[in-house]
Amino acid sequence: MFLLRIACLFGRHFPNRTDVRWVGVETVAPCRACGRQLRREGKGKWRAWTRVDA
Ligand SMILES: [Zn+2]
Repeated sequence: MFLLRIACLFGRHFPNRTDVRWVGVETVAPCRACGRQLRREGKGKWRAWTRVDA
């Protein structure tokens, strides 16, 4: 959704809580708006994984 993607540009993402998974000690989920993989950095704080091709 376009408005959500604008928020993504400002670093606010919307993790898909039905697709949360654990990778080692990390909690990751795809963003519902932009589709990037997010990593949980704290309570309610998610950050997109930095990728070279992002
Ligand atoms: Zn996003």
